Amino acid sequence: MKVSELRIQTARLWQSLEEMAQRGATPDGGVCRLALSDADKEGRDLFCDWLRNLGLTVQIDQVGNILAIRPGSQDEAPVLIGSHLDTVSTGGRFDGAAGVLAGLEVLRTLEEKGIRTRRPLGLVSFTNEEGARYTTDMMGSQAFCGELSVEQVWAIRGLDGTLVGEELRRIGYAGDFPCGAIRPYAYLELHIEQGPQLDRAGIPIGIVEAITGLTWLEVIVRGAANHAGTTPMDNRRDAALAAARIVASLPDLASSIPDQRATCGRFSVAPGIVNVIPHEAIFTVDLRNGDPARLLEAETQFRARVQEISSRSNVLAEIRLLGHVPPQRCDPQVVSVIESVATDLAYPSRRMVSGAGHDAQILARICPTAMIFIPSRDGVSHSPAEYSTPEALEAGANVLLHTALRLAGVERA
Ligand SMILES: [Zn+2]
Repeated sequence: MKVSELRIQTARLWQSLEEMAQRGATPDGGVCRLALSDADKEGRDLFCDWLRNLGLTVQIDQVGNILAIRPGSQDEAPVLIGSHLDTVSTGGRFDGAAGVLAGLEVLRTLEEKGIRTRRPLGLVSFTNEEGARYTTDMMGSQAFCGELSVEQVWAIRGLDGTLVGEELRRIGYAGDFPCGAIRPYAYLELHIEQGPQLDRAGIPIGIVEAITGLTWLEVIVRGAANHAGTTPMDNRRDAALAAARIVASLPDLASSIPDQRATCGRFSVAPGIVNVIPHEAIFTVDLRNGDPARLLEAETQFRARVQEISSRSNVLAEIRLLGHVPPQRCDPQVVSVIESVATDLAYPSRRMVSGAGHDAQILARICPTAMIFIPSRDGVSHSPAEYSTPEALEAGANVLLHTALRLAGVERA
């Protein structure tokens, strides 16, 4: 058969997803496979069995990343496919697992058809992408790329008081394969979109051009406390009212900048007494954009609004920067390979920005990287209701297969 006619087996992929979903299954049909928990161990064991059944050597690195490399005809840097098997506590069956198991299906398809690539083809499941139990998200990929030391990772304490190093040993995944030993030629990750754009548009393939950057700000508004009954409405320095005006202006700010998101996630007022005009309001704002200039523009606009609204409201405002992660662009060449593969396989596709963080944004710092998104029904994720159809997985895995083959090169058909 011609390599161009090669397709993954949808039923086999779907079956594997079903089996993986039993590890950490919750009564509501969701999955709770928190990093390094007993359920995570069960999922890892199953994945390792599947890799060994393909005749692959499974490497566990020092932070528990699971890695298998299918040799190529040439001893060069591998094309690496990956994602994660951990979930949040209210997780679904697809976030992370879809990417890992689509990668497994790619390897199974090549093995079954006896296709040898020039470059080796690797598959990795990263430890603790979600950051739900140990709040350092993308932990395993950061260690893999040398952004966190192994010792730093081992010393991370979870919300339940456990240490990553101890839990790795407890579940039998404290490996000795050195982090940083592999420098991929390229990295590919298939993931559910976790947003509604592809589902709404009826487009099966999203090609991630950039992963969103974020700026987190905290605003402290100071007014004056006073009596709620005796203070005239035009003679107040109401911190809560000023803060609320700023928050209410966020949708307007977001709509003035392309692809901008702006969210107030925390809001508190003091003294918090029913009959006292608040003297203080503290709230956070999460600004996101995939374009660095636009993200900066959003922050600049926001700061100007805070000053304008607070002076109009007769209060003082102070802004603190809580965090900033710059947007990460994907590799333009890998993006166009994915795009041409989708075209050749007759799947409509669309370029897009990922609004969520992924291991791919860490890998993008060390090698050419891009992501393939498949539709999430109604844009729902981190929920038992998370769902992507078998057809969506099939399309995504076929694009993943042929993108990997183009990057790795085919030795013999
Ligand atoms: Zn994920």
